[in-house]
Amino acid sequence: MSSTPIESKNATFGIRPEWIIPLISTPAHISTLPNQSETTNSAWLENKTVVVKDDIIFDLLNNSEFDKRFPDCPVIQLDGMALLPGLINAHCHAAMNLLRGYSDDLPLHQWLETAIWPVEAKFVDEQFVYDGTQLAIAEHIRSGTTCFQDMYFMPEQVAKAVQQGGIRANVGLMVVDSLTVWARNADECISKGIAVYDQFKHDSKLTFSFAPHAPYTVSELTLQKVSTLSFELSLNIQMHIHETAREVADFEKMHGMSPLAQMYKNGLLTPQLNAIHMTQLAPHEIDWLAETGTHVIHCPQSNMKLSSGICPVDKLINAGVNIAIGTDGAASNNDLDMFAEMQSAALLAKADSMNPESFSAYQALYAATMGGARALGLDHKIGSIEIGKQADLIAVDLNTIETQPVYNPISQIVYAASREHVKDVWVAGKQLLNNRKLTQMSESKLIHIAKSWKSKIQGLSND
Ligand SMILES: [Zn+2]
Repeated sequence: MSSTPIESKNATFGIRPEWIIPLISTPAHISTLPNQSETTNSAWLENKTVVVKDDIIFDLLNNSEFDKRFPDCPVIQLDGMALLPGLINAHCHAAMNLLRGYSDDLPLHQWLETAIWPVEAKFVDEQFVYDGTQLAIAEHIRSGTTCFQDMYFMPEQVAKAVQQGGIRANVGLMVVDSLTVWARNADECISKGIAVYDQFKHDSKLTFSFAPHAPYTVSELTLQKVSTLSFELSLNIQMHIHETAREVADFEKMHGMSPLAQMYKNGLLTPQLNAIHMTQLAPHEIDWLAETGTHVIHCPQSNMKLSSGICPVDKLINAGVNIAIGTDGAASNNDLDMFAEMQSAALLAKADSMNPESFSAYQALYAATMGGARALGLDHKIGSIEIGKQADLIAVDLNTIETQPVYNPISQIVYAASREHVKDVWVAGKQLLNNRKLTQMSESKLIHIAKSWKSKIQGLSND
């Protein structure tokens, strides 16, 4: 149903940008000094065409070679643009797009207890989750994000919206101990979650993870059940952990150890765990994360806005921990903008470590693509421009006043460009954004839906 003539008529086509940023090399093996293109460890490639066939990256050829081998193939010419793998938002609460700006400028626990949880209890239903997730999908696509990891109630509505929107997602199967709009208790969360997984598990663009909310909403026993099931079903676990100093202090008072220490003791730190936030980390806890292959999902803007603290990415990377980047929900950020998040992550790391070499532009871009793919267990499929991987690609226009001149396209993308520079987006070879226009969703309809929810929530939230 794409509006792009090239794609609708041809299963094979070429994309020929000015720069290709494959994100194949790890940050330790890359140089982004000037004039490093076309070298063995180049951060970007020039004069090349990406060949897309159906849903995959079929080949990566010199332009002249492509013209010889595929003389009848259409080519999308992207002068002045950089082509890179779609960004991966490793943590958000998509449906919370409907609560963007509902409550700001409060500490996390006060914000949750006095604003967010009451409004969620009153308004969250299947339609809320579906509509909010649709809005988030449209925002993701317009921001160059081709895959997101979600944590919210009613995951079947999230999965339906993902299928409708054409994007890729890892849908979190939310688990909390107490009564919510989704389930009566943790056991019901788990059984309903597994039913959703069974219903949608064959969709190639959908994957699932267990999403126990946090150490202060999920007991040790529940976590152990989730852990056992995650191994049996080969599902990842995503969880907010050590988001604030208060969370850690309260837990230590009750249990005599930090949440992370309890999880380490119970064998819950594994390569299947995505530990979200991690702003409070002792040196020995960083060693545990490295030793166990646990992934850290860094959400710098949410952490800054809620004054939660700073995730020590520099120390984590030096210890060998994989870092992915997430926006968190639009209620606490207040957007799903991975360009802004990359820039914040790179700048915050330097301010935190007092070292300008911390978290380079390349490392930030790597974390937002391959780092996310590794955390989600999808690095064999997405996260880089490599032959055989899914054609999840974005084109960023650098031929603009804000991004000229281009000495280094990666520097421009991380430090100068914004999400408005994303022109085209493909997921599994299908074009979802064409010259900044959504091809499968109606922007005016989505804006109308958002306004309707605002009227409803504003009109009734004081009753
Ligand atoms: Zn979150």
